[in-house]
Amino acid sequence: MGPRDIGDLNLGDLNMPEPFRHLDQIKITHTAKKGCEECLKTGDTWVHLRLCLSCGHVGCCDSSRNKHATRHFHATKHPLVRSIEPGEAWIWCYVDNLMAGELDR
Ligand SMILES: [Zn+2]
Ligand SMILES: [Zn+2]
Ligand SMILES: [Zn+2]
Repeated sequence: MGPRDIGDLNLGDLNMPEPFRHLDQIKITHTAKKGCEECLKTGDTWVHLRLCLSCGHVGCCDSSRNKHATRHFHATKHPLVRSIEPGEAWIWCYVDNLMAGELDR
């Protein structure tokens, strides 16, 4: 497969609903970071943390006031995050709006 432009990608999304098609974009699965990067800068608090599996960005969840993980997706189009809450390892795909699997804890 060669490089695809956005038009082809959208068409592919319509034709092939497939929950795991973004998993090949996983580059990072663990982090030593313990806080939302943006909230730490502004002194805000968060509820839960999400790790971007493309670049290692750590942001806060949608229950948090600033929703930095979702904002990171809109800014970068990185599709996958995981929970880095203790005992949680599920992956969320923002593009498909579904759970895309589970990682090692
Ligand atoms: Zn996906
Ligand atoms: Zn945040
Ligand atoms: Zn990212």
